[in-house]
Amino acid sequence: MELTNVNTLIKEYVNLAYHGMRAGKDPIDVKVNFDLDQEIGKVELVSEEFSRVLINLTKNAFDAMREKVKIDKNYKPVLDIHTKRRDKTIEIAIADNGPGIPDGIKDKILDPFFTTKKGTEGTGLGLSITHDIIKAHGGVLEVQTTKNKGAVFIIKLDTSLVQK
Ligand code: ADP
Ligand code: MG
Repeated sequence: MELTNVNTLIKEYVNLAYHGMRAGKDPIDVKVNFDLDQEIGKVELVSEEFSRVLINLTKNAFDAMREKVKIDKNYKPVLDIHTKRRDKTIEIAIADNGPGIPDGIKDKILDPFFTTKKGTEGTGLGLSITHDIIKAHGGVLEVQTTKNKGAVFIIKLDTSLVQK
């Protein structure tokens, strides 16, 4: 573990995922907004692991929004990244305005090998690994979703791991 500036790590890896998506196949036009709490301080993290969390969640958001781009020509993809210090916890939220997660699969998405992506596009391991890394950091992962409005993945980390 090392004391890490979460805001800096987030900007670095969300931008990395964005540029990878733009350079890859089926790039989409996404507006990425950062709303980062400067009071967040530094957090004890294994940054090589936590960077995978950020990449996995961001790539999933792009994949989900790409599906909506295919069916709705008026749709404008937006990814909102928030950080917020709330008393004893730090919250990191990654919110897309894609299709959302259907009720029937919501409780399966964290399972290893669960994927709705075709062929070799999805391994179904991203969220399972993401969840494991967050738990190993003493944190929790929450998922909120509204049909056609998108999905929000919220990471909560304890401030016992946080230093100003
Ligand atoms: P993979 O990306 O390889 O499919 P993941 O574990 O990362 O595996 O995700 C599992 C499934 O959860 C995805 O296939 C998709 O159905 C769903 N999912 C994940 N993130 C989102 C999102 N932001 N919006 C809608 N569905 C999502
Ligand atoms: Mg994934």
